[in-house]
Amino acid sequence: MIKKTTIDQVYESARVEEVIGDFISLKKSGTNYKGLSPFTKEKTPSFMVSPVKQIWKDFSSGKGGNVVAFLMEHEHFSYPEAIKYLAKKYSIEIEESKQSEENKKLNNQRESMYLISDYACDFFQNCLINSTEGKALALSYFKERGFTDNSIKFFRLGYSPDILDSLSKNALKNGYNIDFLISTGLVIAKDGSSRAIDRFRGRIIFPIRSMSGRVQGFGGRTLSNQKKTAKYINSPESEVYNKSKILYGLFESKKSIAKEDACYIVEGYTDVIQLHQSGITNVVSSSGTALTSDQIRLIKRLTSNIILLFDSDPAGIRAALRGVDLILEQGINVRICTFPSGEDPDSFARNNSEHVIKKFLEDNTKDFIQFKARLLSDNSKNDPIKKTQIVNEIIKSISKISDVIKQEYYLKSCSDIMGISEQAVFTSFAQHNNKSKINSSRRASLVKVPKKDLDLNKIDSKYILEKQIISILLQYGHLEAEYEEIVIKPDEKGEVIESFENIKSKVFEKIFLDLQQDEVELADPTFRNLFNKLISAYQLKSDSAVNSLMFSDNHNLSSVVADIIMETEKYFLHSWDSKNIFVKDKTHDLGQLVCETILTLRKSLINDKINILKSELKKNNNKNLLEDIINYNQLKKTVSKKLNRVL
Ligand code: ATP
Ligand code: MN
Repeated sequence: MIKKTTIDQVYESARVEEVIGDFISLKKSGTNYKGLSPFTKEKTPSFMVSPVKQIWKDFSSGKGGNVVAFLMEHEHFSYPEAIKYLAKKYSIEIEESKQSEENKKLNNQRESMYLISDYACDFFQNCLINSTEGKALALSYFKERGFTDNSIKFFRLGYSPDILDSLSKNALKNGYNIDFLISTGLVIAKDGSSRAIDRFRGRIIFPIRSMSGRVQGFGGRTLSNQKKTAKYINSPESEVYNKSKILYGLFESKKSIAKEDACYIVEGYTDVIQLHQSGITNVVSSSGTALTSDQIRLIKRLTSNIILLFDSDPAGIRAALRGVDLILEQGINVRICTFPSGEDPDSFARNNSEHVIKKFLEDNTKDFIQFKARLLSDNSKNDPIKKTQIVNEIIKSISKISDVIKQEYYLKSCSDIMGISEQAVFTSFAQHNNKSKINSSRRASLVKVPKKDLDLNKIDSKYILEKQIISILLQYGHLEAEYEEIVIKPDEKGEVIESFENIKSKVFEKIFLDLQQDEVELADPTFRNLFNKLISAYQLKSDSAVNSLMFSDNHNLSSVVADIIMETEKYFLHSWDSKNIFVKDKTHDLGQLVCETILTLRKSLINDKINILKSELKKNNNKNLLEDIINYNQLKKTVSKKLNRVL
């Protein structure tokens, strides 16, 4: 655990424009910086950084937040990783709260295992490139396979000499501990530790890295043709290498996966590298194991679209089928592309041009229903029993999806492809769910009549108004503004008259008091939460309210804040600057903006209230209800009157 004082120090020192500037080229634009979005493929810059507010916003992907959020999005760091990165950049010493002795030992051990793995990776790379044996046997093999120098460097490929103890000897000579050579499995201890043997000797090496780039383990392919030795061996399970939780190529492909918003999964190391060389860089492999839920979860941090690429042999197809349901269960969209018989992605990529490969992927990628339907129906065209089996197979997959709208889409698609009526498919789906008793009530509701249409317009306008209230609070909450108020007082003759007077107060006070008088609360929970936080922050100490929220540990809130601020800024940039509209008298215009927004929102909320009361009145004729309605109608009139004056 990193101490709070360190985290605070990091936030104080880090400059968002400097940190982002390390990754993206930024140009000054007014008080802000602009650049090309790193999250999408765009040609005109829509990525903005505000040094004043220390936030960023990407208008093409909708992402935004503070400096830590950027590192989490862009580098896919966890929160502690991001803090550590910034601490290093700004030379801040990281203080960690005390760990238990046992924890400390485990962490130290893990750290040592990572260090030795990294050392071994360097050693293998060096042997490949600089030793005579490496060059003659391994480098030439890579070249034969068509791997470029760039790939060899980028994937840190290596060679482990065909000598019993070349790695272990070198590592020991350089001060590394034999225990960690053994616990990482790089070395196998024979007869105690007096005779140590390199596990990967005589093999070419594929280092496997974690999402943040640390070497966790290795895969090694033999260069000999002898049938006796296994073609591939991998690091054994250890504290740092858990084969069901790693994906080969994840580190090398993560940016591209996020950018393309899709991830290809292939069978092995060579497929990943070969596809990279063909310009398909969003690809990972589960390397010798069946795909696991943990692996899918790793991908989910980057995208929710997976495309399985497999050979069309029975083993490949089985692997694809197993993968489909696991992926669907996690709410991820899955498509499948199989290669012509005798080809795998590696060979196909090697033998075809980039254009042909991309076209092939485009033309042959099917959604999972088409894939299953085609696969199962090849030899059962007109057999009704077989057809039923296929539909049931597909329905089983659809039932793994938790998104009801997606389910409905796929059920329709199933009916389409299989040539069966929608009703039959839906009924069969409902039966399946009742049988498996998973959420049967919720899912069965899908087959009933469609739900009442929601009035989207109404929701939208209220949402926008509430957002605007928050936006005003964030930017101008601490400013003083002037408002016109209806004042009721007796004139000289003692008669009550209504008049309009200008009243000055702080914006946050005005908003708070006005909303309180109808006893209305914002309907959107996030806005309501922000509203309460902002009001109490302003009440305590006005200026730092926004900052304290921007840098709150709550990423959800700070990202909403960034979103709102930057959105307003963009609006100002685009429509005001460009049309040469300037604010004449800031306090006056601000007052008007505040009044207009509050009154419109109040009117909408009061309207809602009246409608609710009316429908209650229909059910039981209650005198109090009637009175309430009359009162609210009166209020509505007053509000409308004020609004007319403002507009
Ligand atoms: P060949 O040159 O004979 O085609 P290959 O190195 O391409 O050999 P394949 O047998 O074609 O290997 O296997 C395809 C992919 O499957 C390889 O890229 C490899 O990464 C992966 N693979 C096969 N067996 C294992 C294994 N035991 N562990 C990890 N990955 C494996
Ligand atoms: Mn092969």
